[in-house]
Amino acid sequence: MDPDLEIRKSNINGTGVFATKGIKKGEMILDWKDVSDIITKEQFQNLSLEEKKHVSVNNDEYILFKGVARHVNHSCDPNMIGKDKKDFAKKDINKGEEITVDYELENNQVPFTCNCQSKNCKKIISA
Ligand SMILES: [Zn+2]
Repeated sequence: MDPDLEIRKSNINGTGVFATKGIKKGEMILDWKDVSDIITKEQFQNLSLEEKKHVSVNNDEYILFKGVARHVNHSCDPNMIGKDKKDFAKKDINKGEEITVDYELENNQVPFTCNCQSKNCKKIISA
């Protein structure tokens, strides 16, 4: 696990991922090759609903997140954004701040109700 990240209880949902030091806008935070496995559509269809929550679809590839990436919560006002199978800081992130991403942009496969408490919260996150 990245030494700059830690997993602990989150006010958004369950456990979350938090920065243990400041991260500058544009810095790479997670490289998906370290924190995901590519699975087939058939493997995806056989997963439990709980596991499907950790799958993103990118260019027809089903990406099952593992490790620290499974604990990253959704926010409607996220501070991390995925690009080229990596996640980058979308803004400066302070030490102790929770790292969040917009699941809709990462093509989440399971809809859910959001509890991010940001001003622009979409409430219902569709799949
Ligand atoms: Zn929200």
